[in-house]
Amino acid sequence: MSRRTTGLLKGALTALHVTGADRLLAPLTGGVGVIFMLHSVRPARADGFGPNRILEITPEFLDATISLVKARGFDVLSLDEVHARLREGEFDRPFACFTFDDGYRDNRTYAYPIFRKHGLPFAIYVPSDFPDGKGDLWWIKLEMAIAATETLSVRIDGVAEHLETRTPDQKDEAFARIYWWLRSIPEGEARGFVADLCEMHGIDTANLCRDLVMTWDELRDLARDPLVTIGAHTRRHLALAKLTLSEARLEMEESVRRLERELARPIRHFSFPYGDETSAGEREFELARELGLDTAVTTRKGLIHERHARATNSLPRLSLNGDYQSTRYVKVMLSGAPFALWNMARRLRPSPMAARTAVRRRWSLNADTST
Ligand SMILES: [Zn+2]
Repeated sequence: MSRRTTGLLKGALTALHVTGADRLLAPLTGGVGVIFMLHSVRPARADGFGPNRILEITPEFLDATISLVKARGFDVLSLDEVHARLREGEFDRPFACFTFDDGYRDNRTYAYPIFRKHGLPFAIYVPSDFPDGKGDLWWIKLEMAIAATETLSVRIDGVAEHLETRTPDQKDEAFARIYWWLRSIPEGEARGFVADLCEMHGIDTANLCRDLVMTWDELRDLARDPLVTIGAHTRRHLALAKLTLSEARLEMEESVRRLERELARPIRHFSFPYGDETSAGEREFELARELGLDTAVTTRKGLIHERHARATNSLPRLSLNGDYQSTRYVKVMLSGAPFALWNMARRLRPSPMAARTAVRRRWSLNADTST
């Protein structure tokens, strides 16, 4: 997302807050709970080009968010407890659940001690290839390639394009251009494109996954703590909706079975990679049901409402996004007002895919990129 768009969204969220509209709307738009989506937790990096920074928050912001939801009377629950509350229809007190996608090592280094300090549970969804060091973190590779270059010559949909990548703004633009195009094409091709780009510019990504993601031993160690739930996130982190039915089923089922073997425990929870409408839909939700999973989460934006008791295989989440590290924004989002307005705007728009994609790009408040 461009800095200008981020600024506009921050302005809109602030306006909801200072006018009190969020509190006014909360009785209509508020939910029974919230599932937070996080990726990395680590100390802040220097400003400048860093499109994947939306996937990182600081330990301080995580701590402040946990304190905020506690102070607001939310029960912080494990995924098993969320499932039980939905099943039993027990909504007397609001709940919050913290979930991390992809299995980054910094979850263990920076997030885990914070949850331990509070004595609260959290969950990590792991693509089963990643702890082997075989994960293709192509969204980070693309950032590395653009960071290291001053110009890029690429072919997008068969057309040669010359992208300037000297300044942070130019790099942001080039990243957005290439990233969203890659998200629209078959994932094998997208990954091949990024691999070629890195090779062409001498970017060594051989150890990237090993450097960033926990090993099986680290995961086993973490999973011994009853505060920690491990969920599945497919085998290779592919957008399931782009696969055939049997491929999609295999990606889901194999990841569940492998995690169960490695960690010697049942895996009851799942997160759809990327998790937006183009990556997971009814067919994939049905697969989660077939596999007998208790819950499956998307990156669709929103709070949990009573109706989700009948849709535990397609639960929405609220992203704790690196661009919005202020508890003021969390307060506004907990009112549900931004999601209600966003859904209303979507309903008023024409339905073509292009329009939906444009809206999604502008509203990347819920970082549905690279998840
Ligand atoms: Zn992911």
